[in-house]
Amino acid sequence: MAAKLIDGKAFASRLRARVGEAARRFEAAAGRPAGLAVVLVGADPASEVYVGAKGKATREAGMASFEHRLPAETPEGELLALIERLNADPAVDGILVQLPLPKHMDEAAVIAAIDPGKDVDGFTTESAGRLATGLAGFVPCTPLGCLMLLKDHLGDLSGFDAVVIGRSNIVGKPMAQLLLAESCTVTVAHSRTRDLQSLVRRADIVVAAVGRAEMVKGDWLKPGATVIDVGINRLPPADGEAKARLVGDVDFASASEAAGAITPVPGGVGPMTIAVLLRNALVAAHIHAGLRLEEEL
Ligand code: NDP
Repeated sequence: MAAKLIDGKAFASRLRARVGEAARRFEAAAGRPAGLAVVLVGADPASEVYVGAKGKATREAGMASFEHRLPAETPEGELLALIERLNADPAVDGILVQLPLPKHMDEAAVIAAIDPGKDVDGFTTESAGRLATGLAGFVPCTPLGCLMLLKDHLGDLSGFDAVVIGRSNIVGKPMAQLLLAESCTVTVAHSRTRDLQSLVRRADIVVAAVGRAEMVKGDWLKPGATVIDVGINRLPPADGEAKARLVGDVDFASASEAAGAITPVPGGVGPMTIAVLLRNALVAAHIHAGLRLEEEL
């Protein structure tokens, strides 16, 4: 393997340690812990795992975790009323509503109900608008985590050609905005893009957020490119193995021969998402308490 491995797990654990220290200083100064509320509607197994992991990580960072689990058939009005209570609760600095929501709920209306000052997921139109116009605000956790890894590896990103594959509101679009703000030349590709391979071939930075197992091959890449693989795809167990295989949107075996650096799956972008969520919640807590963060997180 020629490429350097970008170790998101190690980076995330360092970030979580710094957040933990800052959370202790916050509690001493504010007289209360920073608080993060996580709301889960229904019993989607993957969402259960994410919400459990977020609650555990919040407590480990020395912050208060408020977990609300509602049955799948909860009327939308009840969820909106809960969000109103969390908006008004001074112990809650951040609110995260785990997506996807059950079909009978209007996701956009639910997200719009979150106080933008507590929108630690960065999904409200206020947060998206602030990101697009270059104002300070909450940035979605996964793309912000990707940016941290890129800057840690490459330093100044100015002038690089970047291709983001995927245009979701959660990953692709905010990723493109972040790279643009770093003065990259950004191309956003999606399912209607023509000749994706030749676009990828030009890119110094490739961020794959598609949801298609091992789609991006090594021979698509410009030699030496930096590759960030956001994808999480479960493949049936390989011959002789008991457990399902977790793979990214990039074909790791071939890409790691061509790339200069690459994130693995698992252990790359995945661990960054929760670490950045904790970071965003602590930033929100400082704003609410009128305190200044001593170090950039
Ligand atoms: P979405 O399904 O919302 O978006 C996928 C995007 O990929 C769409 O914009 C779609 O295009 C595009 N796409 C689909 N097929 C192709 C194709 N053949 N060529 C080019 N583009 C294509 O997914 P998300 O953004 O939510 O997530 C993407 C991946 O990242 C998933 O694997 C998900 O599990 C993972 N993920 C990982 C996280 C982490 O913490 N590591 C967090 C969030 C997501 P179009 O818009 O035209 O349909």
